[in-house]
Amino acid sequence: MSEKIVKQITVLPGDGIGPEVTDQALRVLHTAGELFNVTFECQEFPFGGAAIDAWGEPISEELIESAKKSDAVLLGAVGGSKWDNQPKDKRPEAGLLGIRNALGLYTNLRPVKVYEPLCDSSTLKKEVIEKVDLLVVRELTGGIYFGKPRFIKTEGEEEHAVDTMDYRTSEIERIAVAAFEAAGKRNGNVCSVDKSNVLDTSRLWRKTVINVAKNYPDIELSHMLVDNCAMQLVRNPGQFDVIVTGNMFGDILSDEASMLTGSIGMLPSASIGNGPGLYEPVHGSAPDIAGSGKANPIAAIASVALLFRYSLNMNPAAKIIEEAIEEFLNKGFRTADIAGMDEEALNTVEVGDTITGLIKENANKLQEQD
Ligand code: NAD
Repeated sequence: MSEKIVKQITVLPGDGIGPEVTDQALRVLHTAGELFNVTFECQEFPFGGAAIDAWGEPISEELIESAKKSDAVLLGAVGGSKWDNQPKDKRPEAGLLGIRNALGLYTNLRPVKVYEPLCDSSTLKKEVIEKVDLLVVRELTGGIYFGKPRFIKTEGEEEHAVDTMDYRTSEIERIAVAAFEAAGKRNGNVCSVDKSNVLDTSRLWRKTVINVAKNYPDIELSHMLVDNCAMQLVRNPGQFDVIVTGNMFGDILSDEASMLTGSIGMLPSASIGNGPGLYEPVHGSAPDIAGSGKANPIAAIASVALLFRYSLNMNPAAKIIEEAIEEFLNKGFRTADIAGMDEEALNTVEVGDTITGLIKENANKLQEQD
């Protein structure tokens, strides 16, 4: 019998539906871990609004220390009207920025997969989206959101505002490496998106990505201008495997891409730096459905698959989870957000029951075949 591996996870359920979906994600984490002889030791902290209620701040030093020592961080969602009148640095969202900064998370990964049975939930035609399985790799800590100078001031009769788009070779290199590595675990294609016909930062971006590509001879690299990419994402999104781009372009394109699927309750994300990665659903705390059992936990469960793939380097465990999600949908199971008029919807816990059941069933089948 091979030795048990122990991994440390910091768990931040957060607010609203955050704790509900995180509970189901944790069940899947432990179930898939067991199959691969991995035990998880989870340390949980109130985060966001829950932490404000507990000790007046959305994030604590103890939490940051735990996160830094972990193998990965699993996050639910934060926010709610109860905390809307807090000062800016004491709002739940300040906790998100705090943990991202503390962990130096410079890469954001957003996979967008359109599941065949859900093709009709999208606003786009089935034939346009049915083959979509792409990954947006967004640079998260540089570019125009952080460049200096930035200001807004009054000059004579009018106001004057400046933001600065700023990139260094080292920042581009590390995000390009993340994209090429991710493509190596997928279909081997990277499309780098920039605005090199206009912007110097984009010219540096393109030159640097081309240089990094020399270390990845098996990956096919193409380039696309951001305006064309925005168009291609609705014209023919099936052409993309991995899209890598800067902070602002990635912010816009990843939201555009995520809408191809039709439901925000299905979309996971990963943020990665040099230490532990952070895994969270794309959606927020959905206060309108919190406590009703209607929250779809699939985005949180799919985030666990990303945790296995990117922080633990356990692609088979990631796949077994992703296949169970696909099978869940293929067998006709639905949650309220993706159910058709005449379809019955499972509640949050029932989704967890069904997906963990499928994972175990599939693992047993694989063992019997061996
Ligand atoms: P939201 O993502 O919470 O909800 C948008 C809509 O999608 C709602 O109708 C909600 O019911 C639905 N929805 C979201 N997730 C779902 C799921 N898993 N299953 C079924 N339906 C789901 O966005 P919002 O309403 O704009 O924001 C609510 C709160 O969440 C705000 O306080 C906002 O600041 C916060 N927020 C947090 C994060 C985060 O924690 N990363 C992200 C976005 C918004």
